[in-house]
Amino acid sequence: MKETAITTDLLRGLPLPQPAEDGDKDQRGRVLVVGGSLAVPGAVLLAATAALRAGAGKLQIATCQSIALHLGLAVPEALVVGLPETGAGEIDPEAAPLLRERIARCDAALIGPGMIDEEGAATLTASILTCDPGPAFVLDAGALGQLKDLRGVLARHGGRMVVTPHAGEMANLIGISKSAVLSNPAEIAGGTARLLSCVVALKGAHTYIASPDGERWSYSDGDVGLATSGSGDTLAGIIAGLLARGVPPAQAAQWGVFLHGEAGNRLARARGRLGFLARELLAEIPSIMAGFD
Ligand code: AMP
Ligand code: MG
Repeated sequence: MKETAITTDLLRGLPLPQPAEDGDKDQRGRVLVVGGSLAVPGAVLLAATAALRAGAGKLQIATCQSIALHLGLAVPEALVVGLPETGAGEIDPEAAPLLRERIARCDAALIGPGMIDEEGAATLTASILTCDPGPAFVLDAGALGQLKDLRGVLARHGGRMVVTPHAGEMANLIGISKSAVLSNPAEIAGGTARLLSCVVALKGAHTYIASPDGERWSYSDGDVGLATSGSGDTLAGIIAGLLARGVPPAQAAQWGVFLHGEAGNRLARARGRLGFLARELLAEIPSIMAGFD
């Protein structure tokens, strides 16, 4: 199958939508990030901030009650919704109906960062995905655990969805070993995109993006320092922000993977290959995008 490398030339041919000079924040896209737990409250912070750094106009975060106020202060740009939570400090899956109207009114929703309990996250994700008509979705981390069982629901979204597993999450998702994923990542990304009717970004040193109609792209220009805690949360947030701006899912994944990789490369040059933080990637995004204007 033909595979296209993600390069600046490719992306110049896929320009990002630009706002009208008199445009308001709603027109530039409303993002909702659903996730977070008492044990991992910061993943939502990274993902949500990344969506704004990718140029989305308006941000909401839905998280468990006990961290909502903290997140609101840490991300002052966001409207934060505190949801009922389980005894383990995760969003109660029964809370999904409380999100129904917010989901219907946003342009892109990211589900999963900072969610640990796979079963609870799967129930919550399934319930959110039944929202009709829905926004474009990004599913990452906790939301990926039991996706195979949700194929019917996923198919209803007409491909307006990006899933972003690393090799371990992909292995879990399709029920094979991680080494089997790593031995044939391109084909596995392609097969999973068809299976789930959505765009798959299989992350790693070499990231493969596949669309359900059989197209495939790859990116391997990111440096190893990108393999750091919270890095994937920032990528998922960037992609959600781009979706909210109206970028089609496969392009949002291509742009997101490139912007994330390039942000890491800039930090590697400025600070050293290792030791930069996922949160530091975020401030690099606007100027990298501006380089394409
Ligand atoms: P996550 O594991 O969800 O935090 O995501 C890790 C991020 O780092 C993904 O975007 C990967 O593509 C990227 N990444 C992981 N390992 C490497 C590597 N060796 N070189 C470049 N990027 C990497
Ligand atoms: Mg991750």
